[in-house]
Amino acid sequence: MSKVEEYIISIPDYPKPGIIFRDITSVLRDADGLRLAVDEMTQCIGDTQFDAIVGLESRGFLFGMPMAYNLHKAFIPVRKRGKLPRETAHISYDLEYGSAEIEVHKEDITPGMRVVVVDDLIATGGTLEAAIKLLEGLGAKVVKVVCLLELKGLHGRDRLAGYPTETVIAYE
Ligand code: IMP
Repeated sequence: MSKVEEYIISIPDYPKPGIIFRDITSVLRDADGLRLAVDEMTQCIGDTQFDAIVGLESRGFLFGMPMAYNLHKAFIPVRKRGKLPRETAHISYDLEYGSAEIEVHKEDITPGMRVVVVDDLIATGGTLEAAIKLLEGLGAKVVKVVCLLELKGLHGRDRLAGYPTETVIAYE
């Protein structure tokens, strides 16, 4: 397991009883933790050839943007619906309670574009699965998924089958 794990604070019973919340802001508040996390996530891309990093709002921005900067690649945000000013494509997906909608600027994704999708954490994989569908709907090829953490017990990877997925830390 990566040394980054030492910077993660786990909060029992947040946001509700029975859930252990993994806080990544405790990684960012430490200069060494921040550098380690961004560098190890960047290494997860390996020698995969790609055109842009797509970050998922909001914690995917915190990691995806410095990764893109380091590699001199473009960064494209996928946001919750209603926040992007140009023409967007959107998709809705189910959450544990209710549903959510995410969107991306249509013209930012061009057919055949090779993208790496970045978020902070894979839980059920529903958010990433929706983002992949959204991007593929615009003709992008998702060549890799990179997250800092995964919660293995929720089997999010099953929903991402077929997409090379790398995480720095896995919790059972
Ligand atoms: P999923 O769609 O079920 O995979 O949930 C992933 C999303 O939920 C990510 O965007 C995370 O930011 C958020 N999330 C779920 N559990 C945690 C946690 O323990 N810590 C931080 N974020 C979490």
